[in-house]
Amino acid sequence: MVTQREILEELMQLRERLGFAIIFITHDLSLLIELADSIAVMYAGRLVERAGATELFRSPRHPYSLGLLNSFPALHGERVRMEGIPGSPPSLTALPQGCAFHPRCAFALDRCRTDTPRLARPQREPAGRERLAACWLQDGRQSPPGPLAVRLNDDAGPGTGPASASASAPAPASASASASGDTTPGSAR
Ligand code: SF4
Repeated sequence: MVTQREILEELMQLRERLGFAIIFITHDLSLLIELADSIAVMYAGRLVERAGATELFRSPRHPYSLGLLNSFPALHGERVRMEGIPGSPPSLTALPQGCAFHPRCAFALDRCRTDTPRLARPQREPAGRERLAACWLQDGRQSPPGPLAVRLNDDAGPGTGPASASASAPAPASASASASGDTTPGSAR
């Protein structure tokens, strides 16, 4: 961890000095939240959510993003039970029909098993927020469950986000990002 921190600090210093962009591809969402300006979450080879790092941390719109946020421990605040994402990622050569995440999704609807959601701006997303999600819960036909809902205080700060992540992760540093991977891509520039 110390070596990782030193390498990241060196990269950030080089970025500031030379003005280039950095794209991080990693499964470590907690790292991205600290470093990136924006995060692109991928699952089974497809982009499933894209948002500013702060917005993603405080109010994910896709169940897979929520699962990732609930998979790393809080360093501060109240102790909460960590919840992993059940099951395993699918084979890219035999993807499930419909939403590829549906066999692992606690919020799956009937149509999730047959129809593939497109990456789109969530229907209830307030204007001015950078946000895309590929999930039928966000097409405006039904109210998303509490952890994935648009709330008036989404921008109010830590404590309004996912239960196990909200008290722990640091605020994003001055960087911007996008990236990819089976689970979580993110990057910084
Ligand atoms: S489209 Fe359905 S299965 Fe896929 S993440 Fe959204 S709710 Fe879950």
